[in-house]
Amino acid sequence: MKKVLFIIWVIAIIVFFIDWGIVGISFLNGNYEIKAGIYIGLVCFIIICVYPFYKLFNDRCPYCGKMILLSGKYCSYCGKEIKK
Ligand SMILES: [Zn+2]
Repeated sequence: MKKVLFIIWVIAIIVFFIDWGIVGISFLNGNYEIKAGIYIGLVCFIIICVYPFYKLFNDRCPYCGKMILLSGKYCSYCGKEIKK
């Protein structure tokens, strides 16, 4: 599940740069029909921004269920080793 989200995040970054590249070129060529491109870029931007927060608040210990804010090898609550 986490790997899928990471792949989506990477794709969002790639699409974000390609999309803004296309929007920029279209704009420079005097083509102002770039609304769709701007929306795609914004959606990608939101995904890029939200993912680190999602990851931060969803890293939970598989034993005690407490949030792990620091990506250490051991849970700071129950002390058990966390396998990634
Ligand atoms: Zn724990």
